[in-house]
Amino acid sequence: MGTVNGGISFWYADTGVPLPRRPLPGSEDADVVIVGGGYTGLWTAYYLKRAAPSLRITVLEARFCGYGASGRNGGWLYNGVAGRDRYAALHGHRAALALQQEMNDTVGEVVRVAGQEGIEADIHHGGVLEVAYSPAQSARLEAYHAAEVSFGEEDRLLLDAARTADRVRVAGAVGGTWTPHGARVHPAKLVRGLAAVVERLGVTVHEGTPVTAIRPGRAETAGGTVRAPYVLRCTEGFTAGLHGQRRTWLPMNSSMIATEPLPEPVWAEIGWEGREVLGDMAHAYVYAQRTADGRIALGGRGVPYRFGSRTDSDGSTSPATVAALREVLVRMFPAAAGAGVEHAWSGVLGVPRDWCASVHLDHGTGTGWAGGYVGSGVATSNLAARTLRDLVLLDSGQGGPTALTALPWVGHRVRRWEPEPIRWAAVRGIYAAYRGADRREARGRGAATDPVARWADRLSGH
Ligand SMILES: Cc1cc2nc3c(=O)[nH]c(=O)nc-3n(C[C@H](O)[C@H](O)[C@H](O)COP(=O)(O)OP(=O)(O)OC[C@H]3O[C@@H](n4cnc5c(N)ncnc54)[C@H](O)[C@@H]3O)c2cc1C
Repeated sequence: MGTVNGGISFWYADTGVPLPRRPLPGSEDADVVIVGGGYTGLWTAYYLKRAAPSLRITVLEARFCGYGASGRNGGWLYNGVAGRDRYAALHGHRAALALQQEMNDTVGEVVRVAGQEGIEADIHHGGVLEVAYSPAQSARLEAYHAAEVSFGEEDRLLLDAARTADRVRVAGAVGGTWTPHGARVHPAKLVRGLAAVVERLGVTVHEGTPVTAIRPGRAETAGGTVRAPYVLRCTEGFTAGLHGQRRTWLPMNSSMIATEPLPEPVWAEIGWEGREVLGDMAHAYVYAQRTADGRIALGGRGVPYRFGSRTDSDGSTSPATVAALREVLVRMFPAAAGAGVEHAWSGVLGVPRDWCASVHLDHGTGTGWAGGYVGSGVATSNLAARTLRDLVLLDSGQGGPTALTALPWVGHRVRRWEPEPIRWAAVRGIYAAYRGADRREARGRGAATDPVARWADRLSGH
């Protein structure tokens, strides 16, 4: 059987791509208008409506809820938040620790609300396992583990090769680190379930409605304008397509493949009974999950960036990327070498110039945003949404300051990306450097991180 390439993502293979809800029929008024129907926009609508049921909330989505990264990701619902260490440098350890602790709780919050609202998203709370397979990766893994523990993540475990293999038998793995703060999810079931829940609560959701410009007090579309005191931008990797936002967040690609269901003897060789979400310590790292129907879904960078901040077309990805991901899959799991790749796809995530996620609400204009999660938005979007809720309630006099409105990512500003062609050349160069560094580290015996990778980290502001 051939590989389906694109079609949004494998996560829609069973259900088919959803038909859009009714587009915006003309201009209307609301109390809050949310642009973008991914996790960020929908969680924000959910928490605002739960907190203040009388609010008139409208979500405007260009295609359908879950068209973006929320319907295409690796399903790592985990506690990583982009920029935590920079926030520690800017605001002190205590502030960054508060952000981290909120993130740890967020994994449980998503699991809890999904259960409470009847969202069936194949959730399995098995933690996060990251493995190393070269001396340089192993040294990085140990340093990373030690840094996390000293930061305050005391429930993290460092595993030797044997204890790593007890969980998942990744060929050549010399060690791993495991944290309980992670769960596997089916991304599209989560986002589609959430869209149905907010609609049931009385939020208006218009799909097939691209917003062309966000201005104070209104979101403009070809079919009409929604006027509201609060206009929230939740467009992540697509933000560059909005008027005036071309250099705000760089749309970075990530690509994935999903195998056919693996037979039991193959699973017996691989293990992975705990359904941990799985990653490695490469510079161009991979992330993977064992799906509820017994496949491996595995992702990595592929073509990192398209000139002029273009996004992909409905998830199609280059044959070279598919081949590269398959090579990684077989290297990690030789037992799966005979398995067909049923689906390949890609999507975009939003990368701010300093790689720090942020949440903001402008007091004067009522415009706000949440995002810039880099590759860690499945859980982060939930915390960001609850933070946006608190900021709107505070600003509108319906609530006071909360622990969330005091988090260090609130109101964080960063400069814009460089214009083209510098942006394109820099990102391509950086990822070529990372891939080269990974190859040299895989061949070498030294424990030091490849100097080219260190240079790339500095250049990217990572
Ligand atoms: C392949 C891939 C794998 C990933 N894996 C993981 C993972 O395992 N774990 C993790 O934590 N994170 C992962 N991420 C990142 C994570 O998926 C995202 O951070 C998260 O889904 C962002 O949610 P969002 O709602 O902010 O953005 P999106 O889900 O991208 O939603 C934005 C929405 O806005 C809509 N939109 C865009 N422009 C407009 C407009 N002008 N008008 C109206 N609507 C508009 C889009 O159609 C889209 O539906 C991955 C991302 C990708 C691409």
